[in-house]
Amino acid sequence: MTAPNDLAQRISAQVEHCYQVAEQQLQRRFSRPTISFALRGQAAGTAHLQVNRLRFNPTLAQQNPQAFVDEVVPHEVAHLLAWQLYGRVKPHGVQWQQLMRSLFQLEPKTRHSFDVTAVQPRSFAYRCQCQSHQLTIRRHNKVLRGQAQYRCRRCQTPLQLVGNDPS
Ligand SMILES: [Zn+2]
Ligand SMILES: [Zn+2]
Repeated sequence: MTAPNDLAQRISAQVEHCYQVAEQQLQRRFSRPTISFALRGQAAGTAHLQVNRLRFNPTLAQQNPQAFVDEVVPHEVAHLLAWQLYGRVKPHGVQWQQLMRSLFQLEPKTRHSFDVTAVQPRSFAYRCQCQSHQLTIRRHNKVLRGQAQYRCRRCQTPLQLVGNDPS
């Protein structure tokens, strides 16, 4: 599925707007990223730092157009800006958080709070210290709601969701 043209254009225009805000406030220029709408899966968007590319999820964009423009775009742009300003830093670390607040007046939230049921896979990849695990949706949702935490039987460390961060 691809995003309808008008929504893709709105998102692209918002990317440009975010860059203009950044350039004005930081008094420097940034090269513009390439933008793709071919992202699938659960993430609303991803930022590919080295290649200066943003990918957005067309299914989620159509379901949440306003949130995409208001939150997802600045979130992802801030990842690219943090990379260009500070190099290799934590994806959602203090530099990124500061950019979210100072440039975009947004509370830096790590995850987009969307209803992701439309793009939910059957199982979710988790990791412990020693191996990878697959959790069912039912277990995964319990983890998200804070109702359960699962541990690896072998190494006894808590299972952590594998994200393709920065997202
Ligand atoms: Zn383990
Ligand atoms: Zn992120």
